[in-house]
Amino acid sequence: MADKVQALPYFFGNITREEAEEYLRQGGAGDGLYLLRQSRSFLGGFALSVAYGRQLYHYTIEREMNDTYAIAGGKSHRNPIDVIDYHSQESDGLICLLKRPFNRPRGTEPKVGPFEDLKEQLIRQYVKQTWNLQGSALEQAIISQRPQLEKLISTTAHEKMPWFHGKIDREDSEQRLLRSSHVNGKFLIRQRENNGRNVSYALCLRHNNQVMHYRIDKDKAGKLSIPDGKKFDTLWQLVEHYSYKPDGLLRVLTETCPRPSQDSGLGATGGILSRIKSYSFPKPGQKKGHIENPYNFRSNLRGELPKPNIFNNTEAMPMDTQVYESPYADPEELRSTTVKRSDLTLEDGELGSGNFGTVLRGVYQMKKTQKIVAVKILKNEDNNAAVKDEMLREASVMQQLDNPYIVRMIGICEAESLMLVMELAELGPLHKFLQKNKHISVKNITELVHQVSMGMKYLEEHNFVHRDLAARNVLLVTQHYAKISDFGLSKALTEEENYYKAKGHGKWPLKWYAPECMNYLKFSSKSDVWSFGVLMWEAFSLGQKPYKGMKGNEVIQMIESGERMSAPADCPPEMYDLMRKCWTYRPDERPGFSVVEPRLRHYYYDISQ
Ligand code: AMP
Repeated sequence: MADKVQALPYFFGNITREEAEEYLRQGGAGDGLYLLRQSRSFLGGFALSVAYGRQLYHYTIEREMNDTYAIAGGKSHRNPIDVIDYHSQESDGLICLLKRPFNRPRGTEPKVGPFEDLKEQLIRQYVKQTWNLQGSALEQAIISQRPQLEKLISTTAHEKMPWFHGKIDREDSEQRLLRSSHVNGKFLIRQRENNGRNVSYALCLRHNNQVMHYRIDKDKAGKLSIPDGKKFDTLWQLVEHYSYKPDGLLRVLTETCPRPSQDSGLGATGGILSRIKSYSFPKPGQKKGHIENPYNFRSNLRGELPKPNIFNNTEAMPMDTQVYESPYADPEELRSTTVKRSDLTLEDGELGSGNFGTVLRGVYQMKKTQKIVAVKILKNEDNNAAVKDEMLREASVMQQLDNPYIVRMIGICEAESLMLVMELAELGPLHKFLQKNKHISVKNITELVHQVSMGMKYLEEHNFVHRDLAARNVLLVTQHYAKISDFGLSKALTEEENYYKAKGHGKWPLKWYAPECMNYLKFSSKSDVWSFGVLMWEAFSLGQKPYKGMKGNEVIQMIESGERMSAPADCPPEMYDLMRKCWTYRPDERPGFSVVEPRLRHYYYDISQ
């Protein structure tokens, strides 16, 4: 959506109401002349400026809770473009019909707000500090969680602003404002004592050697405003607004009153939205200086093992869990592929079972910490050397992979049985989770499928083919964190060939296989893309079986005849279109994961705005 709006010739970005009026006047201000701009008050919202009878009118297009858009009190639409199309036909409360868009002058791009500039920098700093990540772990965290991170930054960023002085009292704020230079319009924001559960703030403004205090209240919907004033989603938007017009204040905000010296590194001499140098963000919902992470078993493993508190906080991010970072990210935890039996405790109760045997939960004692793990235990009864070899082959593939969206191997333990020790993904296979949780949103499914595409892009880049990609082999750590598992059929490709040629047909998951796998026994990242399309279909159909009721050869015939599965109920057309691309007959015409992943990413960002 964001991209589509950005591309509109009549979208001006973050311009003020006055700038919009100026543009419309330049355009002659004929009745029904309009332009679209970004809302400076509401996150993700827009504003529509319209000319009529030599006057100019402005309407906020708010983004509603269910991701629709509407002019306050008006009809909801899927996106702001639909709002405009609708009001070109129906005035429905607007001063007139929208007749003619006023386009940006040639060579002018939509204006980027000052906060947009800072956002990238803030997100990076936030992820680095909060989860102590760097390198590709940091990049992947930002790619997969950008919408959530942007929201967090937008609502906590004021804490990084030099004008935010935290909890100081009225007298303190006056001293700070009167002590330094005699500039009218100098200001700061302080947090007032909490009245009950509601946080409120005060805007303190210097005017003629006096300090005016304006209370900023939060209403039930979380909007901030000074009494009878305009409402804003965030404090930084409020500051931005009052720094360009007084709008009921005694005067505009001119200069930031910097915080005293202990954190004077915060751009004390900068403008209203001064650049940030360094600062510690509090974690969401966390008191400052107090780090407690319900997902970090490391920090609270003493005696009784706590279960991950996954259901209490469905908004947890992958980085909040213990399995985001590589188990060997800490250089003091030396990487060894063998696990000593004495370091491994197995718990009762199966996580699941497969061809090899059962999978149990266990605890692995590492040098410095303990880790909850999943242990695949080879069934011993028939002492079959081939099965053992197969499991060791799976282990050797897994050992070479290190990505947050892939179940990592921790080691092999040879004891009473051969055991493969892996990261734990407690919520189990994706298809079963979806069958049991049918209320899950399209956004959530897209988030998970996008994570799978990130893991697959990594495999593609590292020349591995999975060969068994299906929803049953995607395991969930939380409702918002998926990992690819089951590398039993996977192969490392050689430098020379970008495909693996099987020696013969095997016990294959035909419904997930591309035509070239069946016809020529050829497996490549492109055939994994085909399987990924089927996986997407499974995910958007909430865990249904693909080609239900059909036999393998019937499926083959259907594919050869050019037919494909139809879209799952309620599947967004953009996602079905991507599935169809994954089911392109010829592998050389099929997109790779380097194309599929960004397509999913952008769709996910768009619906998450
Ligand atoms: P597999 O033999 O790899 O197909 O695994 C069989 C079942 O064991 C899976 O469907 C999961 O329910 C469970 N399982 C396998 N690996 C893990 C893991 N790393 N974490 C949690 N459960 C797992």
